[in-house]
Amino acid sequence: MSGLPLSKMESVPFLVEVSETEIRRERQKARELRASQWWKRKLAAGICHHCAGKFPSRELTMDHLVPIIRGGKSTKGNLVPCCKKCNSERKYRLPFEDPAS
Ligand SMILES: [Zn+2]
Repeated sequence: MSGLPLSKMESVPFLVEVSETEIRRERQKARELRASQWWKRKLAAGICHHCAGKFPSRELTMDHLVPIIRGGKSTKGNLVPCCKKCNSERKYRLPFEDPAS
């Protein structure tokens, strides 16, 4: 009667283990991309990914859509310009700040 398999499937949390080495590597990649023409074009366009507002490039920071600590990568698809207001609303997720500011 009590033949139910002991399944833990439903209790697996959404949590990715990311080592410090990987975090450092992804942050380094983000720094390299920050210096790229691709990113400069993004800043020149001046559009915040989150609120779609237009900002001068100095008001924009680099934001990871999926934070590095949750397994996000520093790829062009995961990096978006983010205005300071949106960034401060989102920063509780990740201590990733613009080192240039
Ligand atoms: Zn914004």
